[in-house]
Amino acid sequence: MSPGKKLSGTDLVHADDEVALGLQVAPAISVSTTFRNPDLWAPGKSGPETFDPRDPERHVYSRYTQETSTRAERVLSRINDGYALTYSCGLAAAYAAFVHLKPKRIAITKGYPGVHTSIEVYNRARDVPAPVIDIDDPFRAGDVVWLETPLNPTGEARDIQYYADKIHAVGGRLIVDSTFAPPPLQYPFKWGADIVHHSGTKYFGGHSDMLCGVLVVKTKEEWTDLWSTRTFLGSVSGSLEAWLLLRSLRTLHLRVPRQSASAAVLATWLSGAAGAHDGIPADVVERVHHSSLQGRDARGWEPSAQLEGGWNPTFAIVLTHVELAARLPHDTRLFVPATSLGGVESLIEHRVSVDPAEHPRLVRLSVGVEDVDDLRDDLRQALQAAARGEVRARVAPKL
Ligand SMILES: *Cc1c(COP(=O)(O)O)cnc(C)c1O
Repeated sequence: MSPGKKLSGTDLVHADDEVALGLQVAPAISVSTTFRNPDLWAPGKSGPETFDPRDPERHVYSRYTQETSTRAERVLSRINDGYALTYSCGLAAAYAAFVHLKPKRIAITKGYPGVHTSIEVYNRARDVPAPVIDIDDPFRAGDVVWLETPLNPTGEARDIQYYADKIHAVGGRLIVDSTFAPPPLQYPFKWGADIVHHSGTKYFGGHSDMLCGVLVVKTKEEWTDLWSTRTFLGSVSGSLEAWLLLRSLRTLHLRVPRQSASAAVLATWLSGAAGAHDGIPADVVERVHHSSLQGRDARGWEPSAQLEGGWNPTFAIVLTHVELAARLPHDTRLFVPATSLGGVESLIEHRVSVDPAEHPRLVRLSVGVEDVDDLRDDLRQALQAAARGEVRARVAPKL
């Protein structure tokens, strides 16, 4: 499969045609919570219909289904090669996955800290909590693995097939949090995932303006189970958010490959910076973490086949001093100092400011869709300014 080929722009723009109601070209914002009830006993009607939530002939109440989320789920199902369901945010989707699988134990190591807290919350509601184990511990029947890859915040990848084989050998299930590598970068079902999770807040939304979570499963039966649980957990996507999601999905194939290519350029460029290099001052960048740079692991695995559509657009650098890491995000002019990732604007963050367990000198970069030469110039001048320790007047970027 050649890079970028798998993600079809035609699918992104038209996969929901069959569930679109009305004559609008651009999907209408639909905020109604409730929908007119047809007179099923009118002449010509044979009686109550059966309600198929994946293919609703009509909507009833927006906690069940609603126009724009149904359409967005159609597009997400097509591009993820499965049956996709949307949630109010990534953590709501994670929680729903645990409720669905009822793990005896949950194997998780590192990654997005919120998922660890979500597991704690899940366990608070249970008489017998599901112990948390490491993904490299031995597995038993009933275990569920939560494998985040590429991993927050380093952007380094893990071998999905290895963990799939290991958990399937005991009859357990594998959830892959593929938030850092949406289509066309990575397709976790190809490597043995049972459920694919995304924080749609990141690349699917892509514009830093809505929260969304996505679970993708392999069968309609499993999708229907998830849908029914979601209806009563109440963790549906808001109507306006679903509309923003659908709007954003139309350009996923334009945004993500661009972000991916720029990130690879910047990671390679920064990794040459152990000594002074292309204007990067010496002794500022200690290390660059990115899937493109990680090489082979102890088992001989390397991530290029798994990241078939390109490297993930979010990665991390470790600076030589904590002061440099703290100030770099405030010395950039295009990279915005902010948490989160996946949007069109490049973001930069001293990670320990939101995750106290993180390496104190680590800075995470989420590469947006700006011109890569401008992003490189911005990082160069910021690294120079941080190294000089200057206080820069806050001015709007001059392009
Ligand atoms: C953001 C994120 C989440 C949580 O998603 P929300 O939409 O913020 O609830 C989970 N996993 C990863 C890898 C993330 O980046």
